[in-house]
Amino acid sequence: MNFPEFLRKKLTIGPLNKTIETIKKNKIHTVCVEANCPNRFECFSKKTATFLALGKECTRACSFCDIDFSKKPKMPDPNEPFNIANSAKILNLKHIVITMVARDDLPDKGANHLCKIIREVKKINPNSTIETLTSDFSCKFDLIDLILNEKIDIFNYNIETVERISPKIRHKATYTNSLKILGYAKNSKKVKFVKSGLMVGVGETKKEVFQTIKDLKEIGVDIITIGQYLSPNNKKYPIKSFVTPKEFQEYKDFAKKIGVHNIYADPYVRSSYNAKTILNKALFK
Ligand code: SF4
Repeated sequence: MNFPEFLRKKLTIGPLNKTIETIKKNKIHTVCVEANCPNRFECFSKKTATFLALGKECTRACSFCDIDFSKKPKMPDPNEPFNIANSAKILNLKHIVITMVARDDLPDKGANHLCKIIREVKKINPNSTIETLTSDFSCKFDLIDLILNEKIDIFNYNIETVERISPKIRHKATYTNSLKILGYAKNSKKVKFVKSGLMVGVGETKKEVFQTIKDLKEIGVDIITIGQYLSPNNKKYPIKSFVTPKEFQEYKDFAKKIGVHNIYADPYVRSSYNAKTILNKALFK
């Protein structure tokens, strides 16, 4: 599929090596690499990355995602908390984003291991802020509580798409449960901000995107990200449309009109893209 002109990303390649070396040497995974994020050269050049916790194989097979699927991934690596925390220190990250694969094979869905990572990251990087971009923990609120109790700065959980498309591209996670999880995090008052993101270009209508922004706002989400879906390969869910810059602007205008001040909508926006800048802006709004 030919990309329209407005989607051609100017390659900004800076000193990538330190980030790549750090990831390799510390034997950790990033969603940037595992999901083939189109921003990875830019982010790695800026010495930033989003850590992928609990291994690199996911127990869900969402049709939009490039992360490897496995029904029985390896047990969590006991060294992963230190390795992630140490990598964040080497990269001098001031805002540390940790995401995770869904671990439906584990009784606690990986929640306790993620908590260990957060604690180690805090211990080694006491002045950095932390954002977790979690799985849905099968909508078990006692497990979500474990994460919220760690006093992270941002609880991020992606709704991914509009309600109608959700069953087509997500495996197990539902639109309704996603809203419940986000609302639960907000009502806990244990995090500074609740954040969520969606992809567009998966067959949604503009009206449905407006409705999703409204649903997120009503449930208390503080920060919303919207980006163009890019299919990882031809076996995965196809791109249904290229959303124009004008349409992205309409989403931003709508969000602002209904009181969402932290809305980031552009073709290459991803839920962890420019996460530090987004947090800083939210703090000063
Ligand atoms: S946008 Fe997020 S996932 Fe993509 S390269 Fe940047 S930090 Fe990694």
